[in-house]
Formats: sequence, C-alpha cells, structure tokens
Amino acid sequence: MTEHETPAWFADAQCLGLPTAWWHPEKLGDAEPGGYNDVYRQARIVCNGCPVREQCLDHAIEHRETNGMWGGRTPRQRRGDARTKLRALICGHCSKRFRSSHGRASYCSVSCRRAASKRRERATA
Ligand code: SF4
Ligand SMILES: [Zn+2]
Repeated sequence: MTEHETPAWFADAQCLGLPTAWWHPEKLGDAEPGGYNDVYRQARIVCNGCPVREQCLDHAIEHRETNGMWGGRTPRQRRGDARTKLRALICGHCSKRFRSSHGRASYCSVSCRRAASKRRERATA
C-alpha cells in the first residue's frame, strides 16, 4: 500500500497507521532484513485479518504494482495471481478465452457485451 493511493475501500485498511516498511521493505536500505522469507511476516499477519484484502489485491494487480505486499500477497505471488486471473476469463457471449488487465470483465469485446445484452432484452420481452 502506498500513501498517495486512496481508493474508497482504503478507509477500512488494517495497515493504516502502521509502519510502511512492513509492507514496503524495499524502501529500507536493506531489502531483506532477517532473510527474505521473513521480510513480509508482520504485514502478512495484518493483511490476513484485513476486511478489504480482495479489493487491495485487485487494485495492485490492476495497477501493476511491482513492489511491496498487497492483499497479503508478495510481488512474486501477485505475478502468479495475475496470470491466473487472465487465464480464467472466458467470454460470456462467444465463450472465447480473452485477456483483461483487471480480470473482472465478462465479455471479450464491446460487440459481445452488446450482443449479450440484446439477448437478455429479448429473453425478458
Ligand atoms: S490487505 Fe494488507 S495491504 Fe491491503 S489494505 Fe489490508 S492490510 Fe493494507
Ligand atoms: Zn466474445
């Protein structure tokens, strides 16, 4: 989490007021105090109990944050999360696989989104 990003859900962030270095050890001179495995230990404990963890992780993936812990996930883990989200997308209209930078789109294209909404209109008419 960074100080200048303030989406609405951040008001509920459990990391508010806690040391930034827990989430951003890369900002310290020594990026690996006590060994890399342990570098996010404090942050992970806080993230695990955070009510906006999902939003936080989505935000980091959408904004391609390469540093720090977000949503309880390390930069390396997030790269895997992003791939999983991209892989998982299948168009709700034409069933084609497609990629989305934010991982929440339901249709592969504007035309598929329009076609799907027309189909819904016909179904309810
Ligand atoms: S998930 Fe972690 S980094 Fe994200 S808002 Fe919550 S405590 Fe902060
Ligand atoms: Zn489609």
